[in-house]
Amino acid sequence: MISNKMTELVAGSSVIRAMFEEGKRLAGLYGAENVFDFSLGNPSVEPPVEIKQAIVEVLQEDRPNLIHGYMNNSGFEDVRAAIASSINMKNNTEFTYNNIVMTVGAAGGLNVILKTFLNPGDEVIVFAPFFGEYRNYVSNFDGKIVIVPPNLENFQINMEAFTDLITDQTKAVIINSPNNPTGVVYSEETIKELSDILNKKQEELGNPIYLISDEPYRELVYDNIEVPYLTKYYHNTVVAYSYSKSLSLPGERIGYLVIPNELSGYNEVIAAANVATRILGFVNAPSLIQRAVAKCLDLQVDTSIYNDNRELLYNNLTEYGFECVKPEGAFYLFVKCLEEDDKAFTAKAKEFNLLLVPGSAFGCPGYCRIAYCVNNDMIKRALPKFKELSKVYEGK
Ligand code: PLP
Repeated sequence: MISNKMTELVAGSSVIRAMFEEGKRLAGLYGAENVFDFSLGNPSVEPPVEIKQAIVEVLQEDRPNLIHGYMNNSGFEDVRAAIASSINMKNNTEFTYNNIVMTVGAAGGLNVILKTFLNPGDEVIVFAPFFGEYRNYVSNFDGKIVIVPPNLENFQINMEAFTDLITDQTKAVIINSPNNPTGVVYSEETIKELSDILNKKQEELGNPIYLISDEPYRELVYDNIEVPYLTKYYHNTVVAYSYSKSLSLPGERIGYLVIPNELSGYNEVIAAANVATRILGFVNAPSLIQRAVAKCLDLQVDTSIYNDNRELLYNNLTEYGFECVKPEGAFYLFVKCLEEDDKAFTAKAKEFNLLLVPGSAFGCPGYCRIAYCVNNDMIKRALPKFKELSKVYEGK
């Protein structure tokens, strides 16, 4: 028999699986071109051609042990050094390879750092709406997730509620900007306020509170908006970065953690993250793709394609009467449902072959997420369906 914990987790996963099955069933009934699947955050834009070339180049280099062999659990030193320089160039920071741990995507990085920090019962604060997997990652290490209610006005942070929820059990806070599911980018003002609160609370409680900045969407921003680099604002910050979205490589499973020298207990934290990488069974991040991304550090996918999708959907949906904060990054729209019950609303949307994810999956009922990392033509075909859906609620 499987464990009690896994029994619960499998039951909890069934919503997403059911949606996937439903998409297949609808495609069988109506034809794939008449089903509008906005449920997945799988990048639709091709990886830059240079990354494919880089993979081939690495394979042609004749140094098998330095490409396919085991290595330090934190990853190749020269790759980490190149990443540190690239971060320094872009953000005016001073990292070296000793601050970088290569990870199996952001998911791997978050699990490594949570394993590094958490004792059973330690509290991890997240801000609703949030990436639903945080619940599982925190529960992997018997931590307790504490949810700050959303600021529905603009989806920046609800500072008052946050301050009240920090206790002497608070070990870490996870933030994610650009955000999945809202697309909101936390402003510099928000980050400064957050840092002030954390500094005061750390002093008052006498324990470090670690800020984990989950940043897979850092490069996916629109209108030249700046995403503040958090280690510059709060010394106890760990960054979890990933190439899944910036280079459209989610299946390759590659990212890194930044663990700054100023972090409380830096030496122990780095050593523990190294061991956590090994004993979680990753051993090290995949070697070939480490070497390939190191050749493409200043590249990113063509975000103008996502931007076109964003404008098309946002402009039309708001014209049909949907309410939504205009996303500044990532590739999601977080829309207020036209009825209170988000599950009933997404079920109604499904009658129009529109597959959307209920906001309750992100700790924010009453809303739904539309992932626009899809083909632009599919959006054009789906718009009349969104209009019909809005008409169902007219006058109600
Ligand atoms: N964090 C957020 C907010 C995400 O949206 C995702 C994936 O969609 C991840 C982490 C995991 O990304 P990765 O593929 O890098 O593990």
